[in-house]
This record gives sequence, structure tokens and C-alpha cells, in this order.
Amino acid sequence: MGARQPVYNTFGELVIPHVKAIENEYESYVAAFSTVQQYLRRSDLSSQPKEPTSKRFMHLVMTPYCKHAWNELIPAEFAVVIFSVDKGVEKSFVGLVDSGEIPLGERGEVVTNCNRNALPFPGDFDAVDANSTPPSEVLKTIEEIANKWGCNLGNEILIFAMRSEIGTLTSCIRWLERKYPCAKWRKFRILTFEMLLMALSELVENAGNNGAVIRHEGGAARFLYHSRYEYNPALACCWHQKQDNIGKVPYCALNIVLRRAYNALYYLCHLFGKAMKPNNHVPIADKHDVIDRELKKQFEVLMNEDPIGVKREEKPMVKYEVEENVFKVKYDNRI
Ligand SMILES: [Zn+2]
Repeated sequence: MGARQPVYNTFGELVIPHVKAIENEYESYVAAFSTVQQYLRRSDLSSQPKEPTSKRFMHLVMTPYCKHAWNELIPAEFAVVIFSVDKGVEKSFVGLVDSGEIPLGERGEVVTNCNRNALPFPGDFDAVDANSTPPSEVLKTIEEIANKWGCNLGNEILIFAMRSEIGTLTSCIRWLERKYPCAKWRKFRILTFEMLLMALSELVENAGNNGAVIRHEGGAARFLYHSRYEYNPALACCWHQKQDNIGKVPYCALNIVLRRAYNALYYLCHLFGKAMKPNNHVPIADKHDVIDRELKKQFEVLMNEDPIGVKREEKPMVKYEVEENVFKVKYDNRI
């Protein structure tokens, strides 16, 4: 009884706080998901329509040059997309960022990333004719877009990012905020895009019995990470559309945010039975787009399967594993 004593495993690592950490992580997961659900239901948000399917969401991606200190990354390119289920993609913005500096010992990392992603070298922007957004303007630009399109949660800017990219994004924002501390920007609230897709899918009629409703983040990621549109140069920034860089279109931050938004819309339009308008819900067709028979087939199977089949399809994923662990761990503790 009372305060728990620290317990160490064979290797001298703390065990009890680790258990606590799992519990906390699960609690914050549940809390974040209910935030998304509440956000969709709210009808009093300024600059946002009442209906959840008309509400606009912001997806943000930053690709980095390299590390700065242990918890910061220097951003190289950033892109945002604003979209809603009803109107599709409503706005997108992309900017290359000339940090001008390379931290000591990071030159190799910068060269690697520049080659892989076809990025202009920091400090070289003028020589290669690349338009850039000054680093001091990046967060301000994101804030202005959030204000204009109503992507706010209380006093915070509401961002949806892929779960696996939240670390990169926060590290880039840390660098930008520390570098330009005098600017007054509001806080960022980052939630996962996967949760947004789950919460949106639950809005469909008879969601409890609909096999196409997404029940876990892994299911949402399967749609969002689809490679359709990856090589569509129309979805890339001017820099990545240049002859020399066109092979690296999949790494363009604009292509990344747009293809995710279109992937989400592809799923949501099918789910809600909405017509897909060219440009809004589907990009202008390109010969490089994968005609996605496989995904369509998966989707149709999900839509038509009997409930037992659906359960089999949606077997334990991250969410359930965490749940089980928490339960088991709590039980062990009582002994
Ligand atoms: Zn680009």
C-alpha cells in the first residue's frame, strides 16, 4: 500500500515507472481520440462550419535537413493542406526553408538528405534559383493559414500529423521557435491523422455494423500511406517539378500532404457515398498514378463482408495490444 517502491529488473532498469508510462500513454491516447470526436461534433467553432463533414482540417509535414542539438531538427521543406470531406482539398501551401547554417558535424547528414530528397543545399538557394520561405516566416505562415481556415482548438493551432511523423514535426517546430523567439505565435496542438480518419469514419450511418468503419490507427494508416499519387508531378512544388528533381517527387513535402489528403478523401467519399469531384477529391489524372485495383478490392471486401469476417479482418492492432498490456500489468501489480 502507499507509494510504490521502485522495482528494478535484471538489468537494473526501472520496471514500475515503465508500467506507469504504458498506462499514461494509453490514457493520453484515449483522451486525444475523444478530443477529435468532440471537435467534429462542435458547432460553435469560429470560421468552421457546423457539420463534421464540412469541417476543415490541416495536415502538416516538415522534412528536415539534419539534427540540431539532441532534440531539434532543422527543417528543409514544409507543406500544409486544408481539406474537408464535402469540399475536398481547399488550400495547400509549400515552402523550402533556407536555414543558412549547418551545425558542426552534420554536413554529411545534410548532403545525404539533399541527394535523397532533391533539396537545395542550405545557403545555396540563390545559385540554384529556388524560392524559399525565410525560416522566421514559417510558423507565422502556418498560423495565418490556420486562422483563415478556422483550424483552431481553443487558443491552439490544431494540426493533424501522421503518428510516425509527430517526433520529426515537434523537433522542427522546436528549432524554429528557439531560433525566432520574439515572434508571438500560438501553441500547436498536434493530433494524429489516423485518429481523424477513424473519428470521421464513425460518422457514417449505422457505424456499429458497418465493416468499412476504421477501428484502429493501423487501419487508418493503411489508407493514408497508400502509394497512389506518389509520382504525380502535378502534386509537387515548383522546385520538385524541375527536370533534375522530378524523380524525387515522392519526397516533396507538398506531394506528401496532398497524396495523404487525397487518400483520405478516396476512402471517405466511398464510405459516405459522395461523388468525387476532380481537383477537389481526386487530383487531375496523371499517367503515373497507380490505378488502384488492389485497394478498391480491399475496400469492397470490407464493405460487403459479413460481421464475422470483418472481425477476423480487424484483429488485434496497436490499440488492443496496449489495452491488454495495461490490464495484465495492473493485475500483476495487485499480486
Ligand atoms: Zn517540393
